[in-house]
Amino acid sequence: MEDCIFCKIVSKEIAANVIYEDTNTIAFLDLNPRNPGHTLVITKQHYATIFEIPEEIIADVYRTVKKISKPLKETVNADGMNTVQSNIVSQGVHHFHTHVIPRFWDDNMPIVWESHHAADRVELMAIAEKVKRLLG
Ligand code: 5GP
Ligand code: ZN
Repeated sequence: MEDCIFCKIVSKEIAANVIYEDTNTIAFLDLNPRNPGHTLVITKQHYATIFEIPEEIIADVYRTVKKISKPLKETVNADGMNTVQSNIVSQGVHHFHTHVIPRFWDDNMPIVWESHHAADRVELMAIAEKVKRLLG
């Protein structure tokens, strides 16, 4: 897609530190890493969000996430790893991507949500029932 920075990385118009590439996905280091080794796994085709991407392609994305995880962890000597994927809200680049972020016990990285509270059981049931109904 024209003017999409990640499409330009796929077409090699913009250089990136690519660590893995296959038919449908490409993994490269984030230019503004939260932690050393912060990687983005993207689709080669342009899909904006999880709402457009076909099931088989998102499966390919997470196959790549799995493939790179151990070598990445070993490379930066991380204690763990987060995968974070934003759609519309908190999404800066509107081309499907998953962040793969090596984590260290002392990295002071906040979790995505700040606080949580005990659920209203009636609301839980209503949400679960509605989603199940929409799933068919
Ligand atoms: P988002 O906020 O959409 O979840 O994340 C987009 C990410 O893409 C950001 O972490 C940003 O640093 C990264 N990014 C934006 N432009 C480029 C670029 O041209 N090259 C690379 N390697 N990363 C980029
Ligand atoms: Zn794109």
